[in-house]
Amino acid sequence: MSNPHKYHRILLKLSGEALMGDADYGIDPKVIGRLADEIIEVQRAGIQIGVVIGGGNIFRGAGLAAAGMDRVTGDHMGMLATVMNALAMQDAIEKRGGFARVTSAIQIHDVAEDYIRRRAIRHIEKGRIVLFAAGTGNPFFTTDSAAALRAVEIGADLLLKATKVDGVYTADPAKHSDAVRYEQLAYDKVIEHKLEVMDTAAIALCRDQQLPLRIYDMTVPGNLMRIMRGEAIGTLVCG
Ligand code: UDP
Repeated sequence: MSNPHKYHRILLKLSGEALMGDADYGIDPKVIGRLADEIIEVQRAGIQIGVVIGGGNIFRGAGLAAAGMDRVTGDHMGMLATVMNALAMQDAIEKRGGFARVTSAIQIHDVAEDYIRRRAIRHIEKGRIVLFAAGTGNPFFTTDSAAALRAVEIGADLLLKATKVDGVYTADPAKHSDAVRYEQLAYDKVIEHKLEVMDTAAIALCRDQQLPLRIYDMTVPGNLMRIMRGEAIGTLVCG
């Protein structure tokens, strides 16, 4: 398919919380449906797309460990939570006529394919939306790191982190009225100043592989497609 847009292949990171809507747990069908619509729109515009979904709307290993559970067990539960979210997104995409495949970094054959890099790339090339589940498959990592890793592995030209704010600010805009949004930021500045963008391992991988990262507000419908058209929405982390 011809693609007049700025990007050829992208990796979108959606946090589990992005699926909750206004609730404080679980998945809001309306929210996941709208996100599925936006993902399909991008794919139909000829842009190849993979998605990493988090699990924080269900379980986080660190939270379970703080409540007394073994950390590795908690992380396994967190990774399984991402599989549930990915299955829900696969369903939402297919209900809307798109094609999706969940690939999992933890073997769970009855519900998802194993993650095999070359197979995932083949799916993406065929216009399927690949949902990368179970993070990196290892405890003590996050789905931010998984997103950076998968983006590099599949040769994405942009990593997108969908959030509820329209980029990275000099201070918390909810508390400081004079906070200013960065249009562009260097990887090292994000790490040095501990800006809450993505975890350090994810930023370091992006920096080492020179993978540009854009943080944008996914609550504004149409933002994903606007970015594909080259609009400077949110904050770009690069160079
Ligand atoms: N997780 C993990 N290894 C990974 C990715 C995720 O152990 O490579 C676990 C970890 O417990 C994490 C949970 O899965 O807290 C959910 O992922 P994350 O917190 O990144 O989700 P998000 O904040 O994006 O919803």
